[in-house]
Amino acid sequence: MSKSIDPQANRLPELSAHHQDPHSYPDGIAFLDGQYLPMSQAKISVLDWGFLHSDATYDTVHVWNGRFFRLDLHLDRFFGGLEKLRMTIPFDREGVAEILHNCVVLSGHRAAYVEMLCTRGVSPTFSRDPRDAVNRFMAFAVPFGSVANAEQLQRGLHVAISDKVRIPPASIDPAIKNYHWLDLVRGLYDAYDRGAETALVLDFNGNVAEGPGFNVFCVNDGKLSTPAVGVLPGITRRTVFDLCAEAGLAVTAADVSVAALRQSDEIFITSTAGGIMPVTVIDGVPVADGKVGAITKRLMAMYWQKHEDPAWSSPVRYP
Ligand code: PLP
Repeated sequence: MSKSIDPQANRLPELSAHHQDPHSYPDGIAFLDGQYLPMSQAKISVLDWGFLHSDATYDTVHVWNGRFFRLDLHLDRFFGGLEKLRMTIPFDREGVAEILHNCVVLSGHRAAYVEMLCTRGVSPTFSRDPRDAVNRFMAFAVPFGSVANAEQLQRGLHVAISDKVRIPPASIDPAIKNYHWLDLVRGLYDAYDRGAETALVLDFNGNVAEGPGFNVFCVNDGKLSTPAVGVLPGITRRTVFDLCAEAGLAVTAADVSVAALRQSDEIFITSTAGGIMPVTVIDGVPVADGKVGAITKRLMAMYWQKHEDPAWSSPVRYP
């Protein structure tokens, strides 16, 4: 059942008395234990199993130019994860959407990275049984962040392929968006050691999987492909499929070998944190001519145009 924080439609909840100016939160706003707080005050117990066991799920949507992008798809994925992990929260989709909206409005940001998350929580009796824990829902809106910075978006990212293997789907269903990132973080350090800016890790068969916070696509002879298994079904990845359908481009989800990736005409990565981002160097070697490819550029332009389209985005109701 929905439990709304402020039952009066269109009325924003208030921050505590000494935090009244909605435009004075450069670091963002969080929702925790029924309250909206400045990010610096959003804290959880070290005994929370979300922290101790990474027993949590989350989702991140972004707001661009004052509009949520594909919020429904993010809510679908979040509620799907909760169900698979047998977690319950006291809010339905509309309740969560309202909380996310309030976080953005209170933060005053028009470009925001907006996260909803649920941890297993803490057992009141210190029992080791996860069924005893009280699940904890939180949300926050912070300034928009991107995997690639402005320069990298222009010239393309330099990526290393790590030999680290992404946690296999038989262990963790990747459709449950999770914080099991040690494989990705170790891959990232491999990349830094080799002078690259970010990493791709492998799936359990040695094919390319994904990177820290992004999916990957390659383009060959005008056709796109992206790894099919062992990866988070990214909303931006899904958006690329939708854009390709509109643009009449062929795209498939299939195994992508390391050798095939290296020989691609174009490579790009996809994430809510930055959208479609070009890759122009793999393991120190330029991808094709080392320039951002034409199909990548075209999809990047379409992607950002869709942020103004009411079929793909919804406005934040700022006061
Ligand atoms: N893969 C991983 C491991 C991620 O954490 C993310 C996003 O955080 C992605 C892929 C991209 O997913 P989306 O496009 O939904 O942001």
